[in-house]
Amino acid sequence: MKKKGKLVIGTTMILLFAAGFAVLRNDQSAREESQESTSQTELNAQTEETAQTASMVQIYVDPSEYDAAIESENDYVPIYQSTSQETVIGKIHRGSWATFISQTEDMVEIQTDDGVTGYIEKQSASIQEAALSAIPKDLSNFKVVLDAGHGGEDSGALSTDQTILEKDLTLATVQTIGEVLTEAGIQVSYTRTEDRYLSLSDITAASLSEEPDLFISIHYDNSEIPNSNQGLTTYYYYTGAKEMAETITANLSSSVALSSNGTRFGNYYVLREQYLPAVLLELGYLNSDNDLAMITSEGYDQRVAQALLTAIEEIVEAEE
Ligand SMILES: [Zn+2]
Repeated sequence: MKKKGKLVIGTTMILLFAAGFAVLRNDQSAREESQESTSQTELNAQTEETAQTASMVQIYVDPSEYDAAIESENDYVPIYQSTSQETVIGKIHRGSWATFISQTEDMVEIQTDDGVTGYIEKQSASIQEAALSAIPKDLSNFKVVLDAGHGGEDSGALSTDQTILEKDLTLATVQTIGEVLTEAGIQVSYTRTEDRYLSLSDITAASLSEEPDLFISIHYDNSEIPNSNQGLTTYYYYTGAKEMAETITANLSSSVALSSNGTRFGNYYVLREQYLPAVLLELGYLNSDNDLAMITSEGYDQRVAQALLTAIEEIVEAEE
């Protein structure tokens, strides 16, 4: 674990996050390339083959200072208007990413995903070099990491009669998705291919090491009161993943006969700790008897997989 005060970590990762990328690119241009234009055409041309690096800041908070199981104000660090730390203008979640702008002896200037520019204390900043590249223009260069939610000792949600476990359904669904995407020529890797437990940090570390163009975590939902909720939900964390999430939602809701809860912001670890396009799909409620009948029906996984393939094709086509 990193000691306070030591901040520069030489980690390289690919960032493909459209909006974040534009911000980073602008910052780089401003600092290093003076007046150069940053039109979209130019961005694509420059990043098609070679990854660029930029500095990112991951928010570090001493693990002894928060309880990972309970959401609280301790999960956030304040963002100050200036280095004098007089005025707090916002807050940012531990583990999340921001764009590096500058630093002084004690403070680091950042820009958050939602466009807030301000200062955090240096002890909360892990400054890392990040490699950037654009979304590939063809399927054969598109890389997906599939994450089957839960596993091992962590069963996840249960059906109302407690016979069906989320961890088994997610693994089966991910296997079908993987087969369909692979068949279409997409590069696919998996966080798990068997019934085993992975911590959330294991999942994000495995995904980041693959440098994917899209991370998809598959889950089935659960409500406190059985049969009180139903439908599909797509979650994203960073605004750069929102458009991809919406494309996925549109394709899922047109090919799967469940109601759609739409595309939502979700403060989930596996999304928050990855500064690259990441979505978490809740593919129906296990403790909704209506949803369960659909989820366990013949061909459900296949329809989900085809919807994701079409969504990825649309994402790639949008880059052409
Ligand atoms: Zn789950």
